[in-house]
Amino acid sequence: MSRPDNSQSTDARPASEPTPAEFVSVANLTKYFSVDSGLLSRALGSQERVKAVDGVDLTIRRGETVGIIGESGSGKSTLARTIARLQEPTDGSIRFDGEHIETRSESALKPLRRRIQYVFQDPLSALNPRKTVGESVRKPLDVHDIGDPGERWDRVVSLFEEVGLSSSDLDSYPHELSGGQQQRVGICRALIIEPELVIFDEPVSALDVTLQAQILNLINRFQRELELTCLIISHDLDVVRHVCDRLVVMYAGEIVEKGPTRDLFADPRHPYTRALVHAIPSIEEDSARDYEPLSEETPSAIDPPSGCRFHPRCPEFIDGNCINSKPSLKTTQDDNDRMVACHWRERSQERRKSHTPPSESERAVIKHELDT
Ligand code: ADP
Ligand code: MG
Repeated sequence: MSRPDNSQSTDARPASEPTPAEFVSVANLTKYFSVDSGLLSRALGSQERVKAVDGVDLTIRRGETVGIIGESGSGKSTLARTIARLQEPTDGSIRFDGEHIETRSESALKPLRRRIQYVFQDPLSALNPRKTVGESVRKPLDVHDIGDPGERWDRVVSLFEEVGLSSSDLDSYPHELSGGQQQRVGICRALIIEPELVIFDEPVSALDVTLQAQILNLINRFQRELELTCLIISHDLDVVRHVCDRLVVMYAGEIVEKGPTRDLFADPRHPYTRALVHAIPSIEEDSARDYEPLSEETPSAIDPPSGCRFHPRCPEFIDGNCINSKPSLKTTQDDNDRMVACHWRERSQERRKSHTPPSESERAVIKHELDT
């Protein structure tokens, strides 16, 4: 599978060429779900809302692979599904290749359905149990009227080979295949119509470690060969670590940190990111050894904590500011590529800038500051 006009890999791009233009760009993206909150509130006419995604700004450049990380329930899937317009945003804008798509009707979204594909965590849920997997993979070609019937089948057969499935698997039903094979079918189904943006939602979390590596290698290979733009969601940092160019860290519906993958792992700046990175068993830095793991209490999505939503669990909690004022996502002083939303971090930076030595009492409050 190749795109002859577009076959140069990102690595081969001459240094003089401009950085890839922004391809997907969301601003203040918000998705709330109304939930049935019981008889009393219904009688009073009030309805509670789950703040799944709350005011997210994010840009994805063409050809790059961006990872979204964060604990379960932090809003990763909702953000990705809203970007793909599988659901309507409550507020905010979504630009795809320069065009606003946040309010497009279903019929106006059809051309976009070909350009954006979503690979679900559970491939079985996305496959029709009554159709052979070969038929399921061919279906998008029928829906979008691509090629004639003979060509369509040839495409399916060759893509099956490319992902390591055999042509004898074509006539199998989804439940007859292993989890790894099912996910390969899911990937075929997404790639068969040559999309530009592919969203992988926890693509390997249902698989064992060996299969995880195989599927991740496959994603990596297609990403390079086809110059795909990818969004990969995972609660497992080891998954995104070797595949993603940049990472976005979500907490309680908001982005708390973003930056290039390598930098974010080497020097996580938000206390939450630090906790996630240090929780990876393979990270054995000195700093990790005496680092306290995160408490279990996850934030309510209906009534999230005020100010910085991480403040009840934050090991760097400073004062009332963390409770009363929402920290905004800002570029860090030394690095425009990185953004962090944290009062503690901001205060540390200001102090470095002004060269003001902290007083004894401040020293006690702003913990670890001079070490980081
Ligand atoms: P993640 O993918 O990070 O695990 P989700 O985006 O699935 O998180 O969920 C974020 C929050 O939104 C959770 O509290 C979840 O229960 C809620 N949520 C997700 N989808 C719906 C829905 N369709 N209706 C109501 N609440 C939802
Ligand atoms: Mg999810």
